[in-house]
This record gives sequence, structure tokens and C-alpha cells, in this order.
Amino acid sequence: MSNQTYKQRDLNAVWHPCSQMKDHEQLPMIPIRRGQGVWLEDFEGNRYLDAISSWWVNLFGHANPRVNDAIKQQLDELEHVMLAGFTHEPVIKLSEQLVAITPAGLNRCFYADNGSSAVEVALKMSFHYWRNSGKESKTRFINLSNSYHGETLGALAVGDVALYKETYEPLLMQPITVPGPDCYQREAGESCHAYSQRMYEHMEAALNEHAEEVCAVIVEPLVQCAGNMRMYDPVYLKLLKDACERHGVHLIADEIAVGFGRTGTMFACEQAAISPDFMCLSKGLTAGYLPLSVTLTTDNIYECFYDDYTTQKAFLHSHSYTGNPLGCSAALATLKIFAEDNVIKQNKRLEEEMRTATMHLRDHPHVGEVRQTGMILAIEMVKEKYSKQAYPWEERRGLQVYRHGLNNGALLRPLGNVIYFMPPYVITPQQIRSLAEIATKGIDHATDY
Ligand SMILES: *Cc1c(COP(=O)(O)O)cnc(C)c1O
Repeated sequence: MSNQTYKQRDLNAVWHPCSQMKDHEQLPMIPIRRGQGVWLEDFEGNRYLDAISSWWVNLFGHANPRVNDAIKQQLDELEHVMLAGFTHEPVIKLSEQLVAITPAGLNRCFYADNGSSAVEVALKMSFHYWRNSGKESKTRFINLSNSYHGETLGALAVGDVALYKETYEPLLMQPITVPGPDCYQREAGESCHAYSQRMYEHMEAALNEHAEEVCAVIVEPLVQCAGNMRMYDPVYLKLLKDACERHGVHLIADEIAVGFGRTGTMFACEQAAISPDFMCLSKGLTAGYLPLSVTLTTDNIYECFYDDYTTQKAFLHSHSYTGNPLGCSAALATLKIFAEDNVIKQNKRLEEEMRTATMHLRDHPHVGEVRQTGMILAIEMVKEKYSKQAYPWEERRGLQVYRHGLNNGALLRPLGNVIYFMPPYVITPQQIRSLAEIATKGIDHATDY
């Protein structure tokens, strides 16, 4: 079987995510036969270095023997059982370990099977907590401009990326959207720290005005990934956490993308030394193997639902695959690798390599910024360097880099005009350098430089 045969069969029956299907009249559809480490291989033997961890999920490479073994073992014991009224060892162990490694106070784990659902759980739980507490005026959420929290209607409503949201606006609840701390917008000469601190004033103003009607503030700590990998300083989270406490509003930390070491610490919140009221995790949770997500919360919130059945305070939310044992076993294997291999510390070398390998791009006439937080590095292509004037989106310059990557053995899937690396942690320094070369040529080509 060749790529071509699969491509045709695929296009006859499959509708792909986040795609204009008509693009595939020109754009190759790439059937993947196997994955190994950082590599994906198609049916003609072409290999692609998975620089974006297959949409940010893969942590330790494809076909990782340790994760494979864990899932195989679990498969022969128990593939699934409903989690209402029943439990199993993987979900118990995983919950104990998540409680142990997440910021202090997050003591309860509620499971779902994807990131958007974890966000829905946090939104509903927060609202319901206030209702159970007699605060019925609290029905709204505060979010940041340029934020992303998933695609289901509740999660979409608290996001702010127009590309995904605008069409569905009539269906969505209305959050209070506050201008965010995205440091790309800072003034020339202003530090990211100073800018994040300055932008926080908008949040304080919104809380002053709306706290009575607000359940929670939801943020992506440190990096707004789907919003073009825009970054901000931890000081913002510190100020926000303090304000949420003062104003009697929950803080939801959506670490679905940034959790599990992406920002250089196990969880991004650690860099601000804060504990949110809710933390949503998914993506890297199973090292990119199986759909699983978890919403962690505090004893205080848990206890507000804990009462006699007839008081009708219970959280009656569920998903069919809640706490799936195979997913939990993959997650346990993931946490084991983090501990045994001292991954967070080992990654420092890779972070440094990503920084040095892309250093020259800072001077590129069509690069507005090269920014990095831990294991996430982003390169913003611009039409005009000093004004940071963006290329019109219709020109689809990022798509040219994507094509260039594929033709040169790299899977780079830019977000608009932003090329980024968010690789599996098993990437080598040599592979990082090679990726940087491919990206550089791709950017030269896409910007006619
Ligand atoms: C990917 C993502 C989600 C949604 O997760 P899905 O599993 O795709 O539903 C939510 N929040 C953030 C920050 C994400 O990056």
C-alpha cells in the first residue's frame, strides 16, 4: 500500500479536525504507518521529526517501551469499568500521585477523557460550589484575551481565539474578557515582568467591578499555546491568585498544554508558587497515548458538595470513559518516567539547545520575536521587523513553512505565522539543531528572504 492509496480512501470517508478539507486538493494527506521515538514514518518510508509532539501530547516518543508495557499489562487485567460505584487500582494510584505532585491543596481528582471536558468540569464545579454556598449571583467567568480552553461550547465560550470562536458566538455564554498579559505586546524596552504587572491592573479592575457575579477566573498559566504561543511572566499569576482570594473568586489553572514539564517545571503554577482552586490536566498526562483528563480541586470545594443525597448538592456530572484504567496505567507509566529519569532536570540541556540553535533567528529581518518558556520555543514571522507588523493571514505564510518542513523530514505545524518547537523530551541536541536549520530555511523561503 502506498501513501496515495490511503490518501484517496481517507478523503472518501474521513473528516479531519481543524482543517479546511478542500486544502487537501493540494496539500498532501500523510498516512502514518508507524512511530518510533521522535519519528513518524509514512507508507513510503519517509520520516518526519515530530517537533510538536503530535499536538503537544507526546512526551517520551512514539512507541515508548515503558508506556507500551504498562498498557499491555493493564490490558490483560482490566480494560475498563465504570467509575460510579466502582474503582480500580490504576485510578487510585494515579490520584494519590497527582495529589502528591501538584501544588499544595489540590487533593481531589475528577476524571474525564479530554481537555475540553476537564475545563467543563471546572466551570460547572465552580458555579455549583457557589450555588451550594448560597451565592446564586455568581454565574459568570473572567477570562483573558487570546486565551484558549477547548472546543466544546462551555470551554469555547471562555476562550478568546476568534478563529475558533466567532462563528459559534450566538451559542455561547458571555465571559468577562480582560486584556491579557501577552508580552509580545509590550513596549520596546519594557521587560516582560513589568508588562505583565502593568496589564494585571485590568484584572484588578474587572474583579472590583464584577466579583459579586463571578464564579472563577480561568487562565492558561505562563503560555497561551493555541493563541500563537504567547507568553507572560509568573508575576501575573501571583497577583491574580492573591486577588482571587481577596475577592472571593476561584482560580482555574488550565495546564492542559503547559503541564508535565512544558514550561520547565512540572507545572507552570510552580513558577509563581501558587495553588489554584482548580487545575485541569490532559495532553501529556498519558504521554500522548490515550485520551484522559483530570480536574484537580481542593478539599474545601469537595466538602461543599458532600452532604445527604436529598440535599441535592452532589456533582452529577459523568463521562462514559471517566477514569479509564488503560489511560490511568499510561499516566502512571508517565509519572514513573518523570521520577526515574529526572526528566525536568534533564530537559534543561534541551531548553538551552533550543535557545542557542535559534539564536540567529533573532536577527532575521522577518522575525518579530523568538520567545521561549522552558521546552516551548516560538518564532513569530512578521512582515516588518521593527513595527512587528504582521503578515496578512490570507497569505498563509505559516503553511509554506509547514510544507517546507514536510519536504525536509520535519513535522512543524505553525499556528498562523508562528513557528514553534514543542518536542517530545526524548529529542536529542543534534535533532534540535537539525530542526532549527529546517525551520530557518522554511522561514527564509516563506518570507522571500
Ligand atoms: C488542547 C487544550 C484544551 C482542550 O483539550 P482537548 O483535549 O483538545 O479537548 C484546553 N485547554 C488548553 C490550554 C489546551 O491547550
